Amino acid sequence: MNLLTGRPTPRPALLDQSPDALRAWFAERGQPALRVKQVRRWILAGRAESFEQMSDLPRELRAELATHFSPLGTRVERHLVATDETHKLLLRLSDDRMIECVLIQEAQRRTACISTQVGCGMGCVFCASGLNGVVRNLTAGEILEQLVRLRNLTPAPDGRLSNVVVMGMGEPLANLDNLIEALEVAGHKDGLGIGARHITISTVGLPAKIRRLADLGKQYHLAVSLHAPNDLLRTRIVPTNDQTGIADILAAADDFFEKTGRQVTYEYVLLGGLNDSPREARELGTLLQGRKAHVNLIPFNDVEGLPYTRPTPEALTAFVDTLRRAGLSVKVRKRKGSEIDAACGQLRRKVEQELTSAV
Ligand code: SAH
Repeated sequence: MNLLTGRPTPRPALLDQSPDALRAWFAERGQPALRVKQVRRWILAGRAESFEQMSDLPRELRAELATHFSPLGTRVERHLVATDETHKLLLRLSDDRMIECVLIQEAQRRTACISTQVGCGMGCVFCASGLNGVVRNLTAGEILEQLVRLRNLTPAPDGRLSNVVVMGMGEPLANLDNLIEALEVAGHKDGLGIGARHITISTVGLPAKIRRLADLGKQYHLAVSLHAPNDLLRTRIVPTNDQTGIADILAAADDFFEKTGRQVTYEYVLLGGLNDSPREARELGTLLQGRKAHVNLIPFNDVEGLPYTRPTPEALTAFVDTLRRAGLSVKVRKRKGSEIDAACGQLRRKVEQELTSAV
């Protein structure tokens, strides 16, 4: 029993157990090692959310599993659906912390946006996720489980996720090992079948970790959150820039491109009157010129309590035109599910505030 919430202590999630530990658990019960694969396949491919559904396992074994584990370790605290069919899940973890993940549905794609940490330690001034700092890294199982839960929202039996963007709460490269472990399972044919080429990892820009990611020799797509064309402005917007600096980040991103052959995307949140003037557009154009890079402009999504605004339509158009004239490939990120607080970290804050004020 959790003394704070009065709820029963959750059983450990099956997806959080290592295959070795599970093999040992089955062996103690005289069960063959193939049970590990069988049970995991039920959850990953078969959409099972209870052991009872695992119909090719002996009945007693299913009951025994259910007394020791739960197939999934999170509970759905809120499930919101926007008119454009964007789903947002607020998941409660076994230690009662909360994270968000989102399913974005378009004609040809079903994209999962997932979190890697509870909170975020990077402190970008406009972002809701980092307002209270980082609490902890998510486990590989917790990262994988977001994908499983979002996939389970697609039509059965064949609905699948086509893409993943690691753009939810947290700094993915600050939790790289757990993230990669989860993505490896997601990419496996017995997993969710999402190959590295369809997975985008977005980072605030940690040069050493970008190089480590490049050395893995995988085809992940890298997105770097630049948000400003010079160090003075970037450090105001992205405080960690103080320790890194734009030059180091660009050099690491160039290495990533060289090693993987994958073109890097630069994300740039447009904050009205702060980083959206023609001068910044020209400076950004010069900074990135000559690189085979793509720029993704993200008009600021309002965060309650923060003083930032979206760029005016004129400022946005002028910014895009200037970058295109500099020869860059540019896209403006579409707003999805705006009525369900799609900017990451906002729903969690709202629900946490509601729950605290209800106590
Ligand atoms: N820590 C990672 C992932 C963050 S979320 C990173 O820094 O890249 C993905 C993108 O959304 C980042 O570029 C982030 O800066 C941006 N973002 C966060 N809050 C936002 C908001 N309120 N409006 C617009 N973009 C936002």
